[in-house]
Amino acid sequence: MTWPKHYGGGGRSAFHRYVVMEEMLFGGAPVSLHWIADRQSGPLLLRFGTEQQCRALLPGIARGQLCFCIGLSEPDAGSDVANIRTKARRTDDGWRVAGTKLWTTNAHRANYMIGLFRTASGLPERHAGLSHFLVDLSLPGITVRPISDLTGAGHFNEVIFDDVLLAPDALIGREGDGWKQAMAELAFERSGPERFLSSIQALVELVRLFAGDATEEIAALVGRLTAQLVTLRNMSISVSAMLEARQDPALEAAIVKDLGGTFEQLLPESIQHVLGLDLTTGPASDLHQVTAHLLRMAPAFSLRGGTREILRGIIARGLGLR
Ligand SMILES: Cc1cc2nc3c(=O)[nH]c(=O)nc-3n(C[C@H](O)[C@H](O)[C@H](O)COP(=O)(O)OP(=O)(O)OC[C@H]3O[C@@H](n4cnc5c(N)ncnc54)[C@H](O)[C@@H]3O)c2cc1C
Repeated sequence: MTWPKHYGGGGRSAFHRYVVMEEMLFGGAPVSLHWIADRQSGPLLLRFGTEQQCRALLPGIARGQLCFCIGLSEPDAGSDVANIRTKARRTDDGWRVAGTKLWTTNAHRANYMIGLFRTASGLPERHAGLSHFLVDLSLPGITVRPISDLTGAGHFNEVIFDDVLLAPDALIGREGDGWKQAMAELAFERSGPERFLSSIQALVELVRLFAGDATEEIAALVGRLTAQLVTLRNMSISVSAMLEARQDPALEAAIVKDLGGTFEQLLPESIQHVLGLDLTTGPASDLHQVTAHLLRMAPAFSLRGGTREILRGIIARGLGLR
């Protein structure tokens, strides 16, 4: 919605996008396939990509035809992104890539990955020597292996690169600037309504089930959760205002994601506690079913996009406390 019209975008403001995203999440729209490309990969290309990369890819994303995934994490590099070992070696015909990415959401469905690879080693600064690449996932030498989550769903993967040849123009931005670019990309990921609405259907079902017939305890729970929801929404909208004003909301986005993740985890937990739901039996209601599902998903809410501890480190640094 916010991209320039000449790349197929809508030329709208961050607020317009916010309203549409919120409505889609609230309505349970099937947005997963295009989410990463719209939220992160496209904005990253707009900021750091070449004109040729933007022309080749952005219109296809805007039309909903191209799916992207993010290749940051590896078996020994999650929170500690600087520990990335997947190497991209410059050769006469382009770049040769070897290594493994892990937890790559949608890699099994994506057309492209934007991957962070090591292009230089042995440098004194740990975050130096990393670069961003555009990877066509249909290239020979790439294997995508599915990983099941606690609910049995298969949305993330292991992606293995066995001496994969990338074209010379696959580099995004400047060689060695990958860390800086990846951190800019994460700010897009950390503040939107999806960072506090993951559990919203449980609150909707709670209100639906007990409308006009709630005990004092249930009414107090709905009031408490709604007050937190409204506050988080106001904070998230403020971050959209910063994005619109082209300010860097890294600290504010980390706060929204940390508080939002805590809220998303607390919501199904507190419903289970107050109603005394027995989740070992079959679902007795839609509320029962959605709460049971969310309790299995909830551990991921404070891992994906940066763990709780890492976010709190960013917040402490932003506030000048470390
Ligand atoms: C649903 C889901 C989807 C994901 N999708 C993607 C994706 O598409 N692409 C991608 O690249 N990655 C993805 N990830 C991976 C995610 O980014 C990592 O799981 C996350 O960064 C944590 O890394 P890790 O799992 O290696 O845990 P670790 O980094 O090993 O952390 C383990 C624990 O130690 C704590 N810890 C680590 N370092 C510190 C520190 N310095 N101080 C204090 N505590 C610390 C962490 O907070 C955590 O509790 C996804 C993860 C999930 C759950």
